[in-house]
Amino acid sequence: MTKRFWIVFGITVILAGLVSAQEAKTILQNAAKAMGDVQSIQFSGTGHNDALGQAFTPGGPWPETNVTSYTKTVDYSSRSSKEELTRVEPPNLRGGGAPFGGAQNQVNLVSGQFAWNQPGNAPQPAVAAAEERQLQIWLTPLGFVKAANENNATAKKGKGGTVISFTAMGKFKVEGTINPQGLVTETKTWMANPVLGDMLVETTYSGYKDFNGVKFPATIVQKQGGQTVMDLAVTSVQANAPLSLTVPDSVKQAKLPAVQVESQKLADGVWWIGGGTHHSVVIEYPAYITVIEGPLSEERSLAVIAEAKKLVPNKPIKYLVNTHQHFDHSGGIRTYVAEGATIITNAINRPYYEQTFKAPRTLAPDRLSQNPKKATFITVKDKYTLADGGREIDIYHVDGDNHNQGILMVYLPKEKVLVEADDFTPAAPNGPSPAPRAVAFTKNLEANIERLKLDVQTIAPLHGFVVPVAELKKVAGA
Ligand SMILES: [Zn+2]
Repeated sequence: MTKRFWIVFGITVILAGLVSAQEAKTILQNAAKAMGDVQSIQFSGTGHNDALGQAFTPGGPWPETNVTSYTKTVDYSSRSSKEELTRVEPPNLRGGGAPFGGAQNQVNLVSGQFAWNQPGNAPQPAVAAAEERQLQIWLTPLGFVKAANENNATAKKGKGGTVISFTAMGKFKVEGTINPQGLVTETKTWMANPVLGDMLVETTYSGYKDFNGVKFPATIVQKQGGQTVMDLAVTSVQANAPLSLTVPDSVKQAKLPAVQVESQKLADGVWWIGGGTHHSVVIEYPAYITVIEGPLSEERSLAVIAEAKKLVPNKPIKYLVNTHQHFDHSGGIRTYVAEGATIITNAINRPYYEQTFKAPRTLAPDRLSQNPKKATFITVKDKYTLADGGREIDIYHVDGDNHNQGILMVYLPKEKVLVEADDFTPAAPNGPSPAPRAVAFTKNLEANIERLKLDVQTIAPLHGFVVPVAELKKVAGA
C-alpha cells in the first residue's frame, strides 16, 4: 500500500514536471521572439579570461588575464564565428599559461568544421579547437534556442523556468534554462578533459538589456571545471552583423599532428623523450624504469611508454614523476597508473588527483576508467631521493615559484642533469626572447639551483631543447 502510494506519487511528480513537445516548441518560438530572432549577432565588451588547468594551487582558480577589448561575431546559418580580443597579464599573476609581454591580440575563427587563428596576416590552423568553437556557437543565448529547435529538444519545468535539453553536434548533451520572459539564463554542457573527465561547462547570462532592438545579457560568465574561464561585461550588441568567412586552403588541409616521439640519449640509461611540445625523461634502474612526466593525454603517454619499453626492454615502469599538476603536465598520468606505476608528486597534489581520478569519463573513456585500479602515490615535500643499484635521482621542490606552488624539479647528481618544467624553456636559435614573467621564473629556478648547491651542467627541459646550463644562466642574468 505505502509502496504503491509512493510509486504513484513519484510518477505524478515526474509527469507534473514534463512539458509536451508542442509546449516546448512554443517556448522556443517565444524565446526566439523575445530575444530577437536574428541570423547573426555581434557583441563587444571587456572582462577577463582564465587559463583552464593552469591554477597556481591544485583546485584553485584558473589564472586570470584582463581582456581590454572583446568582440565576437556569430553567424548561425553558416555555423561560423569570429572572436577578436586583446588581453593583458596583470603584473602579479601567479599560475601557468604561456607568459606574454605587453598586450596579446587574438583572432579565433571557426567555420563549420574548420578552425583557425589569424592574429596577423597568416592563418594558423587550430584543428584541436574546432569542435569546442562550434559548440560555443550553440551555447550563446540565441544559438541555444536555434540548436534546440533543430535537435528535437525535450523540456521540463525547472528552477527559474523551463529546462530544455538536447544533443548538439551529435554528441554533446546540452541543457539550458529559459525564464518566463523567454530569455536564456543558463546553459550547461560537458566536454572531455584528460584531467577532469566529463568536464562541466556552464555559462550564465544575466542583466538582459535592450541593445538596439535585440535583448542580450549585459553579463556573461562561463565556468569550466567549476572555475571561471571567461567573464564579459557586454557594452554593445549589433544584430545581423555580417560575417562571411572563407576557409583558407591551408586550414582545410590541416590535420591534427600525429603523436611523435624522438629520444635523445643524455647518459647511460638516461633518455630525453622529445618529438612534440611536451617532453619526458626515461631513466633505467636495475629492475625497472622511472619516467619523469606524463604530459598532455593518454595518447602521448602510450607513445612515450612504447618508446621507454623499446629503449629498456623487459622492465616494468615502476615510477612516474609528475613535476606539477597543470593539466598539460598531468593529463597523461592516469595511463601510468593503468600501467601499474606509482605516482611521485608533491603532497599538495595527491588529494586533487584522488578526487579527479574518480570523475566520470563517458565522453572519452581511458584505460584507467575501463579497468579501474587504485592509484598509489609517493608524496614529496622538500626532497625525495630515488636511489637504487647505483642510480640516483633527487627530486626537489622549487621554492618561491610563481608558476605553480607545488612544482618539483629532478636532479641527476652523477650525470649533472637537471630536469625542469616551465621555469626555463630554452628557445630555438633566433627564437623570441622570453617574456618578463618567464624570465622571473628562470631567475627563481637559478636561485634554487644555488640554494641547493646543485652542480648542474645540462638542462633537460620538459619544453624546448636540451641545452648547457649556460643558457639558463644567460636568461637568468646570472
Ligand atoms: Zn605549468
